[in-house]
Amino acid sequence: MALAKNVRLCKRASLHHRPKPARGRILHKFADLVEQHVEELAALDTVDAGKLFAMGKLVDIPGGANLLRYYAGAADKVHGETLKMARPCHGYTLKEPVGVVGHIVPWNYPTTMFFFKASPALAAGCTMVVKPAEQTPLSALFYAHLAKLAGVPDGVLNVVPGFGPTAGAAISSHMDIDKVSFTGSTEVGRLVMEAAAKSNLKPVSLELGGKSPVIVFDDADLDTAVNLVHMASYTNKGEICVAGSRIYVQEGIYDAFVKKATEMAKKSVVGDPFNPRVHQGPQIDKEQYEKILKYIDIGKREGATLVTGGKPCGENGTVEEAIQKANSTRYGLAAGIVTKNIDVANTVSRSIRAGAIWINCYLGFDPDVPFGGYKMSGFGKDMGMDALEKYLHTKAVVTPLYNTPWL
Ligand code: ADP
Repeated sequence: MALAKNVRLCKRASLHHRPKPARGRILHKFADLVEQHVEELAALDTVDAGKLFAMGKLVDIPGGANLLRYYAGAADKVHGETLKMARPCHGYTLKEPVGVVGHIVPWNYPTTMFFFKASPALAAGCTMVVKPAEQTPLSALFYAHLAKLAGVPDGVLNVVPGFGPTAGAAISSHMDIDKVSFTGSTEVGRLVMEAAAKSNLKPVSLELGGKSPVIVFDDADLDTAVNLVHMASYTNKGEICVAGSRIYVQEGIYDAFVKKATEMAKKSVVGDPFNPRVHQGPQIDKEQYEKILKYIDIGKREGATLVTGGKPCGENGTVEEAIQKANSTRYGLAAGIVTKNIDVANTVSRSIRAGAIWINCYLGFDPDVPFGGYKMSGFGKDMGMDALEKYLHTKAVVTPLYNTPWL
């Protein structure tokens, strides 16, 4: 019921009929308020998710404000095109907000995911219901409060905390929600798409899991490669959809790499995420913690084969083999390549079926860089101008010229 009421409010309230410069100004004001409350917001995400407070303060919260500013600048540049029609007609397109959007977000990046979804949708003129993950509702509620202070009209940005099978499912099956933007697991993404298909055929965009490869070639600088792989694997306690969870290292550098990577992992300090000397806080909850232990166990069992062989799995270590291995997954979210050879970097980046390729870097995120997967990692982009498109409909308008009768 609460959701239905919100949706009715949403339909009336949109920012769509505001002059667009005003929409941009409101989003900038929202960003100002986020920046003014950086400490409280970072603390909320740390308490909820066990994320490092320092990272929240330096990266997640300012990153949310940056996304708001990026789309604030885009809000007055939403326009269609004039069409070159074969018949003597005046034809043009209008870009219109898709309407009421349901955003279902996960717990690993409560702030980043909130702004991945809400900022382009606000700039497009949509109204929305955001459902934060049940583990991490606090910052989303605070953002709703700041949005109101910034001048976002009541009913435009609604936050409805709750569990997935109830609050989440209500969004994906609701007849008055026009679009769902989801980030989470592949299994739940499938449920969301099914519910959308069975209700009003609302379009969905899904950013799902990944199993991203990082390929380290022989010519890579050892320290760079180790640092990069460490970051790819352990950032945010490994609770990140683009985690580099399959590391392929070419034979020539393999032994030195494993030694150094092990030393670096051992130096990592796990503890209280508010302590600035700690590198890694607790996992989000006991369920994830136990899941990780289980995977380590499976790894040990599977690792026995590797120990007996005592060598890397691959025999040749060619570029073709690396590409084939990188692609040997149902997922296609991201991939890392570490090499100084530009030909290898270019060839491999074009051959890997994934939505983001990071060469000699990892986590190459930026507001202007569209992010989203291939294959079972989903479809539809967050960030960049692609994300704005996601919240817009194209309407084609045609009228005859010269008073010519149509028939
Ligand atoms: P993760 O694997 O990251 O825990 P989930 O896919 O389980 O991700 O959850 C991501 C988001 O999807 C959360 O906000 C969760 O509440 C929501 N969710 C879970 N189940 C459903 C469902 N059946 N319908 C809609 N949303 C759901």
